Amino acid sequence: MADALKIGIAGLGTVGASLFRILGERHNMLAVACGRDIRVTAVSARNRSADRGVDITATAWFDNAVTMAAEADIDVFVELMGGAGDPAYTAVKTALNRGLHVVTANKALLAKHGVELAALAEEKGVILNFEAAVAGGIPVIKALRESLTGNTVSRVYGIMNGTCNYILTRMEKEGLSFEACLKEAQRLGYAEADPAFDIEGNDTAHKLSILTTLAFGTKIAADDIYLEGITNISLEDILAARDLGYRIKLLGVAQKTASGIEQRVHPTMVPQDSVIAQVDGVTNAVAIESDVLGELLMVGPGAGGNATASAVMGDIADIAKSRPGSQLVPSLGRPATMLDAYIRGEMQSHEGGYFIRLTVEDRAGVFASIATRMAENAISLESIVQRPQAATQGDDRKTIILVTHATTESSVRKAVDTIETEGYLIGKPQVIRIERPKAA
Ligand code: NAP
Repeated sequence: MADALKIGIAGLGTVGASLFRILGERHNMLAVACGRDIRVTAVSARNRSADRGVDITATAWFDNAVTMAAEADIDVFVELMGGAGDPAYTAVKTALNRGLHVVTANKALLAKHGVELAALAEEKGVILNFEAAVAGGIPVIKALRESLTGNTVSRVYGIMNGTCNYILTRMEKEGLSFEACLKEAQRLGYAEADPAFDIEGNDTAHKLSILTTLAFGTKIAADDIYLEGITNISLEDILAARDLGYRIKLLGVAQKTASGIEQRVHPTMVPQDSVIAQVDGVTNAVAIESDVLGELLMVGPGAGGNATASAVMGDIADIAKSRPGSQLVPSLGRPATMLDAYIRGEMQSHEGGYFIRLTVEDRAGVFASIATRMAENAISLESIVQRPQAATQGDDRKTIILVTHATTESSVRKAVDTIETEGYLIGKPQVIRIERPKAA
């Protein structure tokens, strides 16, 4: 049997403590699968005396993760602290520079420094693995990086934030407001005390930027993502969508278009009978469309200590199975020096169907005016319906819902901007893009 693989874990929170426990419990099973022992020989966190539900007394302790990366007797540095900055960034660089393999679950770090870190890993001839950074336990990184090699990917999209999906699911199933569902998610521990990063879409954007790179072979462009969160989605939108045969999901979508690559994160209407529409609660899903395979959809737990630790354990096992001198799989699917420049597909030229909700004064000519504005912009309508008013809204107004056939973002924006100047709108118009799975 080869020598034991020595692991140092920096960060013993939800994921780190689960990983420590699971690696201990499954020691024998892993040794058989990998042909060598896997032993945690060093750990680091902020508070040495915190009760983490695991016994770390026989493991070397480091107050400082960077010192652990520089000095500990380890082969693999596992970064589970989080954050794009220090100590995670310096600790990972220190470990790679020292010739250690690195495993991380840190999407923020990769979104910001992923190309630099992948290049450093390649230069040093070590592995940088990060399966847990996107969609938790779902093996989407491996699918894109390894299993789909030779396929040309045209679109990758998914539900990658459990908090948002939980809120949208509860709004629809229980008829509750956004605010009530957010409070519930916080009470259950799904949402942070400051949930902005989740509900404004930034968390999904970080994950999407990593998938884009793996799918299209371009440099990570996390700052070049069209971003809309779910805070503007009302119960009225969700119920109207349901009546029209759709569900609303926060999707991250990366798609090859004639002008470049669209990267966008926004609330999206998906057909009710599509598989992704059935993905409820904190569950995640990622779909990959490619030319040889067709459509692949993976659904599973996107977060939580065990699910995330499972992905980290798989990454560690891959390192344990690798042999010195063997060819390493490039972290980002192709060598970092061979990644193409990212060329942004203009959002204005995005093509697709749209849901438009307008609350208008109940007077003659409004319906006709809306239809005219749509026609002027060559927007063809799949349906235009008037929704019954809630009793609290009064009978001096009505809600009109339009669903368009495929058109462009710029046409819809122009039509809606003109409608906004006409004087009969009450409140802001709501515009939600429709995304159709390939098979739908
Ligand atoms: P967490 O529960 O907040 O734990 C973070 C750990 O890092 C704690 O043990 C903390 O130490 C330690 N830490 C924080 N700052 C530190 C510093 N400056 N120096 C040394 N140690 C420090 O976080 P988590 O939920 O386990 O997440 C860890 C990583 O996994 C993040 O990158 C996250 O994005 C990613 N991830 C998490 C999940 C999930 O479901 N939780 C899913 C996918 C990916 P103390 O305990 O002493 O405070």
